[in-house]
Amino acid sequence: MNDIFAKHAALKAARESLAALSPRDPFALTIERPISATVGVIEGRETLLFGTNNYLGLSQSPRAIEAAAETVRAEGVGTTGSRIANGTYALHRELERRLARTFRRKHCMTFSTGYQANLGAISALAGKDDYLLLDADSHASIYDGSRLSQAQVIRFRHNDPDDLDRRLRRLSDTPGARLVVVEGIYSMTGNIAPMREFAEVKKRHGAWLLADEAHSFGVLGENGRGVAEAQDCEADVDFVVGTFSKSLGTVGGYLVSDHDGIDTVRLCSRPYMFTASLPPEVIAATLATLDELESRPELRTTLMDNAARLHAGLRTAGLVTGSHVSPVVAVTLQDVPQALAFWNALVEAGVYVNLSLPPATPDQNPLLRCSVMAAHTPDQIDRAVAAFKTIGAQLGVSKLAA
Ligand code: PMP
Repeated sequence: MNDIFAKHAALKAARESLAALSPRDPFALTIERPISATVGVIEGRETLLFGTNNYLGLSQSPRAIEAAAETVRAEGVGTTGSRIANGTYALHRELERRLARTFRRKHCMTFSTGYQANLGAISALAGKDDYLLLDADSHASIYDGSRLSQAQVIRFRHNDPDDLDRRLRRLSDTPGARLVVVEGIYSMTGNIAPMREFAEVKKRHGAWLLADEAHSFGVLGENGRGVAEAQDCEADVDFVVGTFSKSLGTVGGYLVSDHDGIDTVRLCSRPYMFTASLPPEVIAATLATLDELESRPELRTTLMDNAARLHAGLRTAGLVTGSHVSPVVAVTLQDVPQALAFWNALVEAGVYVNLSLPPATPDQNPLLRCSVMAAHTPDQIDRAVAAFKTIGAQLGVSKLAA
């Protein structure tokens, strides 16, 4: 009756049945020590890292490390306060000005994580009388922000502008603002949004468009501004949300926009107002990696070459991957026992990737989510592909693609 954990019984049982099939806990794997961007020590072994979001390899940037070390000595390790109380330093302002310039937008707000950026943007922009139209494969932070907003949530089919159009048409006589939320690159599958088509639909219906470019900033577009830049429709994207924890290699999140209403969002976005601000050394490191992102466009070229190499290699190995070529390449497997066996064998072969299991995967298929970095060498990619090929053959997985 009074067991507060009783509601977790099904989850506990599911975890126990996974443990019976897997020699190691896929949700508790520890990187004992990162050695470089691409290699870490796991279970005492040097392991190739193919399951991070460190797309440009900048988490290990010597310039960022130096900037963080200098700043931590000068300003201390944390702010102990929220942005609207006692947690705004000159560095927060500098980073916001800098990001606004990068995105060529008037306004920028920074948040303590990317998760909070979505929570804070969506919950403040949409109110209880508004409608949120979410791509069905949206990240948890988008769904959680929607709940916090109390707006009515309508999901449309993943990457389907026609379905969005139909759903907006049905709302044509209802009052309230409509905010459409899509991602640039989808984190699990590597799918890329048809942003320009979404922008056309939103214009037709007088809706607003928010793009979460978490996985596409620093990756796509001539200047790395993401899918909206790559598809030449930035002017029609009202709000861009993103994170520092992927191509920028640090931690934190942001919202940029040209709409002046953003100034008032600072005073009603609870995930912005009621949490401690970013520590100064993180900001210093982020400013340094942002410099690199902007001054080293060749990183993006190498990244996309590496993405093409990994994608083609896995396909040639007979595995089933998505059709979009992006730094996220997901291998679809048949069932959970096979996925667990495959993932464990990869770890034992010195290759780390992410295991994603239903119900957390888009099509209810288990996925081995691989991600590539600009810092990977062709040889590292070929070694990872070779491990996939050998294990796939041993487990009889290669037949899937036939
Ligand atoms: N949006 C998307 C699409 C993401 O994939 C993630 C994290 N995986 C986030 C937001 C949250 O970012 P962070 O981890 O920096 O909080």
